[in-house]
Amino acid sequence: MNIRIGNGYDVHALAEGLPLWLGGVRIDSPVGCIAHSDGDVAIHALCDSLLGALALGDIGKHFPDTSDEFAGIDSKILLGRVMELIRSKGWTVVNADITIAMQRPKLAPYIIPMRECLAEIMQIPVGNVSVKATTTEKLGFVGRGEGCEVYAVALLAGPETGSL
Ligand code: MG
Repeated sequence: MNIRIGNGYDVHALAEGLPLWLGGVRIDSPVGCIAHSDGDVAIHALCDSLLGALALGDIGKHFPDTSDEFAGIDSKILLGRVMELIRSKGWTVVNADITIAMQRPKLAPYIIPMRECLAEIMQIPVGNVSVKATTTEKLGFVGRGEGCEVYAVALLAGPETGSL
C-alpha cells in the first residue's frame, strides 16, 4: 500500500442575499458565496486536496467554470465525481481535515452536519473527517466579511504509483 497527501485552498467572495453552502450543508446566513457553482468553497478546497494527493490537477481543470454543465451545480456532485475518479484508480481516502475561515455567521452548529455529509460522500467514517471553523479576528478580507477562505488536507491510500 502507498499513501499520498494533498492540500487544497479556495476563496470565494461573499455577497448579501445569496445562499451559503459549506461542506454540503445549507447555512443560515445573510451572505453567500459568489460563484459559478453553488459556491461551496469548503467542498472545492476538499476536492483540490483529493486531486492534489494524486497529482490530478485541480477542480477548475475537471469542472471548468466556463462550462454551462457546471452552472449552479451542487458541489456535492463534484465531490462525488472526484471520488469516482480516485476510486477508479484504486485509491481510498484515509482522512481529511478542513479549516474554514469566515468572520460570520457562527459555524459551530453546522460542524457535525458537515462532517456527516462529507463522510457519506467519501464513504469513510465520520471520525475520519474533520471540519474546523475560525474567524481571522476581523483581520484581512475574511475579517471584513468580504470573503470565505478554506484550507483542506487529505490523506489517500492506494496502489504503488509514481508515473504520470
Ligand atoms: Mg471555488
